[in-house]
Amino acid sequence: MSNRDLLTRSLAAVWHPCTQMKQHAGDGPDALPLIPIAAGEGVWLRDCDGHRYLDGISSWWVNLFGHANPRINAALRAQLDELEHVILAGFTHRPVVELSERLAALTGNTLGHCFYASDGASATEIALKMSFHAWHNRGRTEKRHFLCLEGGYHGETVGALAVTDVALFRDAYAPLVRAAATVPSPDARRAAAGESPADVARRAAAALERTLAERHAEIAALIVEPLVQCASGMAMHDPEYLRLARTLCDRYEVHLICDEIAVGCGRTGTFFAHEQAGPGVRPDFLCLSKGISGGYLPLSIVLTTDAVYDAFYDDATARGFLHSHSYTGNALACRAALATLDIFAEDDVLAANRALSAHLGRCLAPLAEHARVRHFRQRGMIAAFDVATDDPRFARAFYREALAREILLRPIGSTVYVMPPYTITPDECALLAQRAGEALDAALR
Ligand SMILES: *Cc1c(COP(=O)(O)O)cnc(C)c1O
Repeated sequence: MSNRDLLTRSLAAVWHPCTQMKQHAGDGPDALPLIPIAAGEGVWLRDCDGHRYLDGISSWWVNLFGHANPRINAALRAQLDELEHVILAGFTHRPVVELSERLAALTGNTLGHCFYASDGASATEIALKMSFHAWHNRGRTEKRHFLCLEGGYHGETVGALAVTDVALFRDAYAPLVRAAATVPSPDARRAAAGESPADVARRAAAALERTLAERHAEIAALIVEPLVQCASGMAMHDPEYLRLARTLCDRYEVHLICDEIAVGCGRTGTFFAHEQAGPGVRPDFLCLSKGISGGYLPLSIVLTTDAVYDAFYDDATARGFLHSHSYTGNALACRAALATLDIFAEDDVLAANRALSAHLGRCLAPLAEHARVRHFRQRGMIAAFDVATDDPRFARAFYREALAREILLRPIGSTVYVMPPYTITPDECALLAQRAGEALDAALR
């Protein structure tokens, strides 16, 4: 099958996500390309006509160890011969038990209870519902509101949109959404002259404290994306914010939800991003998805504490957490996650990533000096910069110019970022950086 064949049929039958479909029509300079992918191997994707693309965004931040990874493939083949799926209500199976134990161990057994779903937005919904319900079961029925950060993103279902502060995704549905209150983002780009990233964090935490002091009685939880607010443009902050937020949440009896759907699984340099705030800093709820299955299968997990779990443990059915999804704890997805954790352990991925991210930073250093580049920033295997441009079509132009150079990068507005699989080689890092630079110049022409 050729590219043309597949894309014509796709445009007729598939409604693509995050897309104004009309922009796929036509071949004009503003048209949005649609690329039929036939195969993937490592960091490379290959289309039906044999062109290749380096997956510089890990296929929307999910792929950690390359496409068609032999070890994850083998684990899934073995699992297929044992058990593909079984109802998780009233039944259990080895992959879900082992995955829960291993994730709990990674939190030092502070978050020892794992609840499963299939996507990130559902994990957000679960954390919000559990927080509210836990307080409710403890008699704190007035705790029915949430706090989120400016520019925060936690998914796009109606419930998750309540704590998502991205106008493009939220405004159209505002009449449906019971929006949470927002508090200032600790985004380090907000530093005034002479202020450090930690100073910005302290300023944002002071604003959080004012809101909590006034409204804590009605607030169930604060939800944050630790260290990097990805979807609103890779806004990075100092771990000091997490330390202060934890202290304030304790003081004002508010749950802290860490949404590590994008930043978990080694992306920022530690296995969980919140670990960088220090050993004593743990959330009440930890949401994982995206990379946890290596980018293979839809899987999300909410981990929580004994205290939250105990608030539901009762003779009364209605005090239980009765939430469910059909594919909860899917055995194949859990097995992919176990294979992913095996790779972390066997290859000491966190150590390898320290060297790899330093190399990536060196490759991108010339771009940081580019006359139109502002706020070059990096945290582990995420690097980003803002481009000084007023052109609303910049993101589209850059995307096309990068594809023409065999590179898949999708800027968010005028923010260009790279977030490659951890299996990218040093040479591929250099190629990615060089061609991103060429695409930047071409897009600004
Ligand atoms: C992607 C993302 C989500 C939503 O996950 P989906 O699987 O797309 O529903 C939630 N929170 C964060 C931080 C994300 O990056």
